[in-house]
Amino acid sequence: MTITLKVSDKTKEQMLEFFEDFKRDKTPAYAIFQAQDGDTVVTLYESGKCVFQGKDADLASEFWIATEKLNSGNAVTTNSEDKKKEDKQKIDPKLYNSTSIGSDEVGTGDYFGPIVVTAAYVKLEDISFLESLGVKDSKKLTDEKILEIVPKVTERIKYHTIILNNKDYNEKYHQGFNMNKLKAILHNKALSTLKNENLPYDYIVVDQFAEKFVYFNYLKESTNVVRDITFVTKGEDKSLAVACASIISRYIFIKEFSKLSKDLGILLPKGAGPTVDATGVKIIEKYGIGKLNEVAKLNFKNTDKILNYNKGT
Ligand code: MG
Repeated sequence: MTITLKVSDKTKEQMLEFFEDFKRDKTPAYAIFQAQDGDTVVTLYESGKCVFQGKDADLASEFWIATEKLNSGNAVTTNSEDKKKEDKQKIDPKLYNSTSIGSDEVGTGDYFGPIVVTAAYVKLEDISFLESLGVKDSKKLTDEKILEIVPKVTERIKYHTIILNNKDYNEKYHQGFNMNKLKAILHNKALSTLKNENLPYDYIVVDQFAEKFVYFNYLKESTNVVRDITFVTKGEDKSLAVACASIISRYIFIKEFSKLSKDLGILLPKGAGPTVDATGVKIIEKYGIGKLNEVAKLNFKNTDKILNYNKGT
């Protein structure tokens, strides 16, 4: 598959920085660089034309299409062969019917509560059991159903979960870690912990939240970087290891979330909408501003709204 797009000078600069460590020694005529990682070859030309080639070209170009959109404020037109065919995001039976380690996270869109990342290990022989529990449609599962089936899942499969509480999240954010960098670090930690148990596997699958190069760029200072990753979008549908990682993360998030609510004596809402702001105001009235640091992700816009409300009264 080949995907071609045109990028602005700003995106060019960002690409140069990102691909610094992946550059090939030889550069084609009129190109600024050619880089390779795994199966994708990326060539950036002086004209701003950028070409992604390889079977993961759609995934590899996704991030840069989004970046160019941000930088230029315009929709980006791409030329892609076979793009439509790939767009369907078909379930690959080879990936689905395999022994895999998968990871997924929860809580990144919620103002209140921690971020939970899980890596789960699903063997080929676990698949029919997991399907019978309804794990295959993990996205459609209600909290109630999650609470019911996850204990059955965790009785059978190995997993490793990392919880980043709000205090630690806020501190990391203050140190300059953005959300995606934190996610990359947590995914890597969870995956490497399971991988270190020397379990046999066919694939390590990550539900993709950042383009591959960007993901590894975030892990530049990390140790034990797991590199043999297959990144997929909508991973819960394509890999039961990701689906299990997703529901286990949700289960733990639900538990942590209700613990927080109970401790506060205030029912916390999920998400980041207006009810969240109203609840934030209540928390400050009851406990003072400092409490937010322990229960919320302070970098969200909600914080300003909550603080302004309090100033206004
Ligand atoms: Mg995900």
